[in-house]
Amino acid sequence: MQLDTPLVYVKGVGPHRAGMLEAKGLTTVNDLLHYPPFRYEDRSNLKSIDRLAPGEMATVIVDVRETRLPKVGRKNVGIFEAKFGDASRVTLTGKWFHGAYLANVLLEGTRLSIYGKVEFDPYKGDLMMMHPEFEMLAADDEDGDMSLHTGRVVPIYEAAGKVTPKMMRALARRVLDEVAPLEDFLPAVFRERLKLMDRWAAVQAIHFPGEDADLRLLNSYRSPAHFRMILEEFFWLECGLELKRTKARAETGIGFALTDRVREKIKAMLPFKPTGAQKRVLGEIAKDMAAPHPMNRLLQGDVGSGKTLVAAEAAIIAIENGYQVAVLAPTEILAMQHYAYFKNLFERLGYVVVPLAGSFKPKEKEKIRGFVEQGMAHIIVGTHAILEEGVKFQNLGLAIVDEQHRFGVMQRLKLMEKGTVKPDVLVMTATPIPRTLALTLYGDLDTSVIDEMPPGRKPIHTKHLPSSRIEEVWSFVGREAAAGRQAYVVYPVIEESETTGLKAAERSYLDLRDVVFPRLAVGLLHGKLPQADKEAVMSAFKAGRIHVLVATTVVEVGVDVPNATVMVIEQAERFGLAQLHQLRGRVGRGADQSYCLLVTEKLGEPARERIRTMTESTDGFYIAEMDLRLRGPGEFFGTKQSGMPALRFANIIRDAELLEVARNEAEAFIHHPPSEEELRRAVHFIQENWQRRYGLVQVG
Ligand code: ADP
Ligand code: MG
Repeated sequence: MQLDTPLVYVKGVGPHRAGMLEAKGLTTVNDLLHYPPFRYEDRSNLKSIDRLAPGEMATVIVDVRETRLPKVGRKNVGIFEAKFGDASRVTLTGKWFHGAYLANVLLEGTRLSIYGKVEFDPYKGDLMMMHPEFEMLAADDEDGDMSLHTGRVVPIYEAAGKVTPKMMRALARRVLDEVAPLEDFLPAVFRERLKLMDRWAAVQAIHFPGEDADLRLLNSYRSPAHFRMILEEFFWLECGLELKRTKARAETGIGFALTDRVREKIKAMLPFKPTGAQKRVLGEIAKDMAAPHPMNRLLQGDVGSGKTLVAAEAAIIAIENGYQVAVLAPTEILAMQHYAYFKNLFERLGYVVVPLAGSFKPKEKEKIRGFVEQGMAHIIVGTHAILEEGVKFQNLGLAIVDEQHRFGVMQRLKLMEKGTVKPDVLVMTATPIPRTLALTLYGDLDTSVIDEMPPGRKPIHTKHLPSSRIEEVWSFVGREAAAGRQAYVVYPVIEESETTGLKAAERSYLDLRDVVFPRLAVGLLHGKLPQADKEAVMSAFKAGRIHVLVATTVVEVGVDVPNATVMVIEQAERFGLAQLHQLRGRVGRGADQSYCLLVTEKLGEPARERIRTMTESTDGFYIAEMDLRLRGPGEFFGTKQSGMPALRFANIIRDAELLEVARNEAEAFIHHPPSEEELRRAVHFIQENWQRRYGLVQVG
């Protein structure tokens, strides 16, 4: 059996099961070896039923004594009950809702291992478990030797379709027995410094811990074997990222000159004195731009921290060196707003700024393409349309890209170039990125963080109200409007196609306009409006001619109206944390005290946690960490996000500290390898084994 042997050829698998394993990402023997159990049970030293205490999680080996499907009248209530017993002559009841199917599975006399939370049933005076996990302990051919499943610490795997945890265990055993010991490719320096276990020993111990294994360490993924495998994954990931950064730094790019003329132009453009953080970050960007290699930098900063101003400064550097600049925004509204912002800043400098978006008429698009291609436009601001409409640049020097787009964009920018030189790329993120993600998903970029707000900002007051108190919300909005300030009222439209959110927004708009605020100007903004209407509404709101703007999430990113002081979010329970934070960031942009009112209808547990986080903190980094924790890394950026490395043993949230360790080790190893030969071997190993799995790591 080889590492790349397809699992379908392993005894006991066959095409049907192979398909189910494949759906879990398990195709080869090697995949299976890297599929760790998610939990371990100590079946070596089991408690009998009479020793169980209510409240504890426990595994017990029991026999099925009696089963029943309780009925009310003649109707089955859908609960399955099994009475279990063991040598201690005390019983324990297992209960399953919707468990009728178990009547044919848990037959009387069957021996099982069950795992669950022990509870006391006050009606029956008996111990019970609700929905315990169970495993049949009868020997059958497929599961091999029963000593694998009892009398020891056993691994519990996630099932793969109908491949049960027990079959997985037998399969893991078979594969470990038949495959040749794994080689260890980790550099010896690293292994020795951190006293890491040997690879083969670690893989074996993860699947089948030895007799002296510590159950607590195993179940917290901190056994020496876990420690080794987690660090290994992080080490290769960080090596890959570091190689990629190193390679990018060595590529030929544009070395922009930072002349006095550039400085003067920046000074002439600046509408305010930059904050210390803005100055520092511009320094970092300018240094990258001056170097003759392509910049790949991530600009992070909380909403309202002034990223756009820094981007404008960077644009001046490029333009004064005779290059063009592209600015890509995620939505048309934001693109047009950026366009207005840059146009306003740059008009004085004599730069030509052009917009582009998908909704433009073909004639307009053609004209703009011509401007850009002939070098008449200095800066083009738009949506993805810039990439899609066949725009060619005369000499693109800098691309300022929204974080949401960075994956496709980097490669495609190159295609649009007429020359061969790679432009500098500045990725801007509207969502603060937790450090763990900055080290993994964004690990191929250098990062700059604006960690200071422009002066005079007052923290936004955030309040949570049930929808029954909506009258209070409206009277508050009315008072603010009377004092000359403005408000947003946002409704969730989570999916483009969804109409309920849109209808709610429209209904509320009519109600607010005609009934609640007959004396105020109320506007409506949503994604389905024609572009011209959107622009008209936005500019009326900007100019203060609309007092209350009812909107869907189109206002989420980037809209900048400093006189707006109230953000009302309806059905706030339906928004994710990142969205709530973005929405809140639309207010608090001027000198007046601002407010965010979170109105909820039905509040479930995770939503409650999100609302609590919002009322507790206005710190975007804290909120992003909470978001990552609540949702897990896979969903952090929504389903569209690709490029998340597929880690098998490590978890970037749980193992954040180890990630830092691995990062330092990887940097040291790549830049000061013990020998060239070892470095070459490592690079080769990463290419062979990790490239595909880490997704975004492409080395060589
Ligand atoms: P971000 O893009 O980071 O969310 P913006 O660049 O839109 O933030 O800036 C938010 C607001 O703060 C804008 O109204 C902008 O003009 C203003 N601003 C930016 N930098 C400063 C500064 N140094 N001093 C005062 N106001 C600033
Ligand atoms: Mg902005």
